[in-house]
Order: sequence, then structure tokens, then C-alpha cells
Amino acid sequence: MADNSAEMAHLLAGYKRFREGTYAQNQERFESLASAQSPKAAIVCCCDSRADPSMILDVNPGELFVIRNVANLVPPYETDGAYHGTSAALEFAVEGLHIKDIIVMGHARCGGINALYENAPKGHKRGFVGQWMNIATELALFIRRQYAHETPEKQRDRLERESVLASIDRLKTFPFVEAALKEGRLRLHAWFFDIGNGILLAYDEQAEDYRPVDLPG
Ligand SMILES: [Zn+2]
Repeated sequence: MADNSAEMAHLLAGYKRFREGTYAQNQERFESLASAQSPKAAIVCCCDSRADPSMILDVNPGELFVIRNVANLVPPYETDGAYHGTSAALEFAVEGLHIKDIIVMGHARCGGINALYENAPKGHKRGFVGQWMNIATELALFIRRQYAHETPEKQRDRLERESVLASIDRLKTFPFVEAALKEGRLRLHAWFFDIGNGILLAYDEQAEDYRPVDLPG
């Protein structure tokens, strides 16, 4: 099936650059990666094309286990026999890859969070996105009530940041995460990225707020 659209041509031109540049220059490393991966960290982030963790953290293939979904939500721990893609990836990261750090990274102007903010009062559950975003409906309603005096933009910003913390709380209820935390072999991190200014924030539990991440010296 051929597709000669300008968009596909753009992507394939990128693949050509990869084959001739990055791959050719690192062939040995890529060949060794073919047999196994041992990433040290996992990150839950949004599908949004502007929230690319590999670009932000400048990592190479094999270094970061990336779990992307709409609005970077960790779902509740459920054993209902349904198809849970994010939970499966988290289980593999902790149980299979023994990763030491899980990051949940929110981002500014998230379309999923915006839709959630707009639709929460209507109780809509349309389509897969609507059903998925229901994970955070209660939080959206709480923020709309609690911060009704603030502008919608400010409330959405709160929802983007608070939903990351709520995801961290849900993550702690997964039995394999709970056990790894208890045994001191796993750490959890709440991050927030704004591509507009390129700044990455991390939640500081002491300050109870997000702060720019500490950069290595
Ligand atoms: Zn998003």
C-alpha cells in the first residue's frame, strides 16, 4: 500500500536521514540493543506531539521506557478483564525491566485535559477519549468548584498539574508498585513541561508545588 502524500514523504525523508546518519554512525550500538533493553526509568506522558520526552531529555534509544496515552493519565488499578494498555506497560516496566524511577509528565495546554475541563459538568462520556478522560472527571469538577473565582485558563492549568499528582496517587495503589516502593527499589516523580518556554518542572513535596528541576552541575 503506497502513500505518496506530502506528510508521508516528509516522514520517510526523516527515515532516510536516520539510516544514513544516526544509524550508520551508531550501527554497533543499535545492533547490541536488538537483543535486549535495560532502561533505567519509565515515563508516562501524553500522546501530544509537542510533549516528546526523548527530545526533552535528549536520551538515546534504550534509555527511557515511554508509555504514552491521552493526557498522561495513570488509570485506576482494575482487574476486570478489560484491555488495559497503560497498566500492562507499567507492570512490564516494574516487574519485567526492574526500572528504578517512574515519571508522570503532564504538559501545558493539553487537549485531553481541556476537553475534560469543558465536558466534565455535562457528564459526557462520548467515544474512547470521553470514557478514558472520565478517570479525572471528579478532579475536574472539584477544581471547577473550588477555584470558580479563577479564570478558566487558570483552572485548566491547575487541572493539568493536579491530574499528574492524582495519577501518582493511583500509581501507588498498583500492588507491584506498592511492593517496589516499600522495598525501596522504586521512586515516583511528578513532572510538568511547557513547550512554550521549554521549562521542565518537578513537584516538590516539601513546598507542595512544582519547581524547575535541579540541573546537574
Ligand atoms: Zn496532552
